[in-house]
Amino acid sequence: MVMLADSHCHLDFDAFDVELEEVVARARRAGVGPLLTICTRLSEFGRVQKIAERFPDVWCSVGIHPHETTNEPEAPAGRLVELARHPKVVGIGETGLDYYYEHSPRERQKEVFRRHIQAATRSGLPLIVHSREADEDTIELLEAGAASGPLTGVIHCFSSTAFLAERALALGFYISLSGIVTFRSAEALRAISRRIPDGLLLVETDAPYLAPVPHRGKRNEPAFVVHTAALVADLRGVEPEALARTTTANFHRLFNKAAAGCA
Ligand SMILES: [Zn+2]
Ligand SMILES: [Zn+2]
Repeated sequence: MVMLADSHCHLDFDAFDVELEEVVARARRAGVGPLLTICTRLSEFGRVQKIAERFPDVWCSVGIHPHETTNEPEAPAGRLVELARHPKVVGIGETGLDYYYEHSPRERQKEVFRRHIQAATRSGLPLIVHSREADEDTIELLEAGAASGPLTGVIHCFSSTAFLAERALALGFYISLSGIVTFRSAEALRAISRRIPDGLLLVETDAPYLAPVPHRGKRNEPAFVVHTAALVADLRGVEPEALARTTTANFHRLFNKAAAGCA
């Protein structure tokens, strides 16, 4: 059986406190192999890192979510690069811009995003990008980053326009689809999802948020990525096994520190 990869989840969140072992075990039983648990606050990085250390084939990232940029202390690119040396850290983020909630001022979000872009270039690790209602500024900063050094990454939980998809793909960025693609209202996203090249497609849960149909509204967990993957396979007219093979190979190509099958 080909295992799926959940390219983005938050296993350190309180929602998983009491039964993390069981959540990881359920993912494995459902056919989900590699899990990438994402850091949103540097102050929580220790907790995220410990979870990655505890389980084989669970990886982590280091970064500051755009929502948290005013709450978190200054983190120069060099600090992110240093923390990213840990063998289980495979990406920089999540970072980016969120103008929908705008929990932090836009200028502050941009400044912190730029530092993460620098850290990705300097460490050679992929950038994990969160973008909501901020397409123009997101692509402007990514293009500027790519012009000044090697840069790769993923637009996670993609829910933006075809404009951002096309420009990000042109930069060689991957696009990761979450449970949103299964929601009844997501027709525009499904249209975009059909056109992502095979080599740049990922799937994720963003658990504990955004559970896919048929679990919509409940707490999400990595096992549920199978529902998103099944729908995406159907949209693209391929067998679920073929989609798993493609997206897991993509996961390992992008997050190449997460060597296949090793701890
Ligand atoms: Zn996000
Ligand atoms: Zn996230």
